[in-house]
Amino acid sequence: MNALNTQAQQALRRLLAQFGLSLEAGDMPCSNWIDGDLVTGQGDAITLTNPATGEELTTYRDAGTDLLDRAVAAATRAQVEWMALTASERGRRMNAAVRRLEGHEEDLAQLESVVAGKPIRDCRGEVGKVREMFEYYAGWCDKQHGEVIPVPTSHLNYVRHVPFGVVGQITPWNAPMFTCAWQLAPAIAAGNGVVLKPSELTPFSSVVIARLIESGGLPQGLINIVNGLGPTTGAALTGHDGIRKLVFVGSPDSGRLIAEAGARRLVPSVLELGGKSANIVFDDARIDDAVAGAQAAIFAAAGQSCVAGSRLLIQRDIFDAVVERVSRAASQIAVGLPADEATRMGPLQNARQFERVTNMIERAKAAGARVVTGGTRPTGLPGGANGYYLAPTVIADVDASMEIACEEVFGPVVVALPFEDEAEAIRLANSTRFGLAGAVWTQDPARAHRVAAQLRAGTVWINSYKAINVMSPFGGFRDSGFGRSSGLDGLREYTIPQSVWVETGAEASVAMGYGSGQV
Ligand code: NAD
Repeated sequence: MNALNTQAQQALRRLLAQFGLSLEAGDMPCSNWIDGDLVTGQGDAITLTNPATGEELTTYRDAGTDLLDRAVAAATRAQVEWMALTASERGRRMNAAVRRLEGHEEDLAQLESVVAGKPIRDCRGEVGKVREMFEYYAGWCDKQHGEVIPVPTSHLNYVRHVPFGVVGQITPWNAPMFTCAWQLAPAIAAGNGVVLKPSELTPFSSVVIARLIESGGLPQGLINIVNGLGPTTGAALTGHDGIRKLVFVGSPDSGRLIAEAGARRLVPSVLELGGKSANIVFDDARIDDAVAGAQAAIFAAAGQSCVAGSRLLIQRDIFDAVVERVSRAASQIAVGLPADEATRMGPLQNARQFERVTNMIERAKAAGARVVTGGTRPTGLPGGANGYYLAPTVIADVDASMEIACEEVFGPVVVALPFEDEAEAIRLANSTRFGLAGAVWTQDPARAHRVAAQLRAGTVWINSYKAINVMSPFGGFRDSGFGRSSGLDGLREYTIPQSVWVETGAEASVAMGYGSGQV
């Protein structure tokens, strides 16, 4: 066994013990938070691999359907208790609850770094986001005051925003803590109970967050985390009768299954899916900024980011110069161990993803694309030859119809495509089935807004990339999904408008059919 792997196993054991997730008997760790209890799964064993070494990290059990039933029952009961509180009390409790993270931030970041293989500095940032999301949505608890509609009859008509009851949430492995808090916070602020299933590849951090936060003053059972595979625990969650809304963050293929499962029970869904975002650089852009932006857009999180700027569209007269500069900068990125403070890019998270990305690069080469830099496993890494590392990769000489240019890679791989003019840039940007994000680099403000308005993408940056905040709505067009997260739009996904009509006339006017003397 690689010494680094032994170190990672020891670190994980310490962190799980610290958070109370390991059993004294030495059995598999607790991987579920149900009705205020840490619970070991009852299903098959799931093995986690260390992304930095490719060796086994630990094993835990799939939750299984009995535990899921318990989780839904607990959330159903606790939701009633939660809604019996005043709105301002719910806000106060959410604010108090998130303070329970204090003093645990570093351990939480380390836990995520070991299991997800993400650089420790990125994980610290993610913990900060968890706090920000709960604080933001705590503020909404007592501000969901509905509306009065000026109907043309003698009625007082008002609209209430009513919680669904219990919502089911499913999250991916690339940003487990971020996506957990991103969906938990608005769901409970809107008055729902929750059962959330994280990715089977990153099970623990959501359990820790839920435990800390719920124990900080929320009703026992309001937040439940069940861990297991998509086809087992995930499918059981999407098909459960007690779940009234589904919110899914993940790939388009799984998103379709989730929406189908919801549709069969007439349960609505929000889908936050993948992307193939276009980062458009015009020849009047500040090139230093555009190059730095292109780097951050694709190589942060080793490209395992839904909004990754994986298509770099560059105006033809500056194409060679920009490709050369982005490639040079890419080759200088500090790729290394997740735990190392100096690391800017860690490994890919899992073997399947590593194979997927490297196979896509090989198919691109076979189709005639040119790898300008990267494309292979970097040599001389401390994790040895079996970690899922891939050097930052820039690919040119691609045709927009090639797989590498139109399908999501979800790795540190950017394709560079030249364009002649604004019209071609817009056409290329909108030419994939996705529509999650995009960026425009130019010093011409009129052009910036003109192009942004024509991009079919849920988020557009002008002379920037990857700025996101819980205050601003986020989501996709087309195969990048539907519904919104963050901001008021994200909160509204967790409520149903209820319209209430009160007769205020001196004489009641109950009409047969639609007609009424007053309409
Ligand atoms: P994935 O679709 O493989 O898995 C996501 C989750 O779905 C996991 O928890 C998995 O267990 C579960 N799942 C899989 N099949 C299921 C089924 N039949 N029923 C119920 N649950 C099931 O995605 P991934 O590989 O974990 O994540 C990467 C993808 O997520 C990328 O496409 C990325 O772009 C996307 N993503 C999108 C956003 C966004 O906000 N738009 C954010 C992060 C990641």
